[in-house]
Amino acid sequence: MRRAVAAAAAMTLAVAAGAAQEKRTMAADLLKDPAVKAALDAAKANEPQTIEDQIRFCEVAAPPFKEAARGNLLKSTFEQLGLQNVRVDKAGNVLGDRSGAGPRPRFVIAAHLDTVFPEGTDVTVKREGAVLRGPGIADDCRGLAVLVATVRALKEANIQTPGSITFVADVGEEGLGDLRGMKQLFNETMKGEVDRFVSIDGTGVSITNVAVGSHRYRVTFKGPGGHSFGAFGLANPIGAMGRAIAKISDLPVPREPKTTFNVGRVGGGTSVNAIPFEGWMEVDMRSADPAALASVDANFHKAVDSAVAEENERWGKPRMITVTKDLVGDRPAGSTPEDAPIVQTALAVNRALGFAATLGEGSTDANLPMSLRIQAVTIGAGGRGTGAHALDEAFDSTGAWQGTQRAVLLTIALAR
Ligand SMILES: [Zn+2]
Repeated sequence: MRRAVAAAAAMTLAVAAGAAQEKRTMAADLLKDPAVKAALDAAKANEPQTIEDQIRFCEVAAPPFKEAARGNLLKSTFEQLGLQNVRVDKAGNVLGDRSGAGPRPRFVIAAHLDTVFPEGTDVTVKREGAVLRGPGIADDCRGLAVLVATVRALKEANIQTPGSITFVADVGEEGLGDLRGMKQLFNETMKGEVDRFVSIDGTGVSITNVAVGSHRYRVTFKGPGGHSFGAFGLANPIGAMGRAIAKISDLPVPREPKTTFNVGRVGGGTSVNAIPFEGWMEVDMRSADPAALASVDANFHKAVDSAVAEENERWGKPRMITVTKDLVGDRPAGSTPEDAPIVQTALAVNRALGFAATLGEGSTDANLPMSLRIQAVTIGAGGRGTGAHALDEAFDSTGAWQGTQRAVLLTIALAR
């Protein structure tokens, strides 16, 4: 957090305190409404069904870029639960509407369909008491199950909202999916129509209002290559890459806001006795601050370019080694300020239900709307997940209904 002048800070705090009080009262008042109480009761009573859904969705594989089968399952579930205008957009996002008294405010709540697991992964879910095991069982099959449980609870309690809600099961959240579902949703499918956005991702009752952005590159160094003895004197692509890695390792980055870099994978060459014709590396950089991310990115480019120039100069071979830097991941950084109504509402809902009201940072679907300054947060889906992105991923469903209730109450609070 940055503080400019004391007066401005004091005013912001006063405004935030006022908004906080107002949101707290609203969340507490909602709990007194018999229809809202009925929706929360339904969320708890239906938890066995929610767990069944979680398993059912998870046993249909959804590898990166191949989410269609799981998407179809969500589409038919949305239809069965009576959502209107159920549709699949160009990217493969599945959308369903629930009308309120008016079209606005429009609240959008989403969970992601895709997993990190490649085609052919065994996606059978094993159940050991309260613990479910299977790839993607928490991230984000739990989110999908809570999304559907929210639709069901609102329907059973016949909740009427002033604003309208769109439920979305989206594609492309993980890794090289590069938020393509969100990019499609906010730049085309629902462009200009989203007033508030919540992503259900992860477990517990967390609230995330800061989006850690990332840039990822695949960098390829090329040269003619040749015999290690006979052609000695040629500039070496892996030599240039080594120089680049050394420079990247020395890049200065701020501790606050936390800004990071990593050379995660390297490869190239054909033989110990050949000057390689190619070397490549994959680089990841992250920060919650867009300016800090842009700065480390610019320094990375300079490091690679000067490394190539030095390698060519060392051997007196200008332009012998060439380099391409392909951007393979671009998740924008951003945040929804702590005093924004959506954050205050999320905190108030947590307090009203007796949960911790703390904020965190992460990298999720909400990065995209946050970067567009649309009010957005990410919430956990209850229960407790372990081993995300690993084959032995597990979900402990003990008390998970509390996460479902939180999603239901927050939905009702934001659709007004
Ligand atoms: Zn996730």
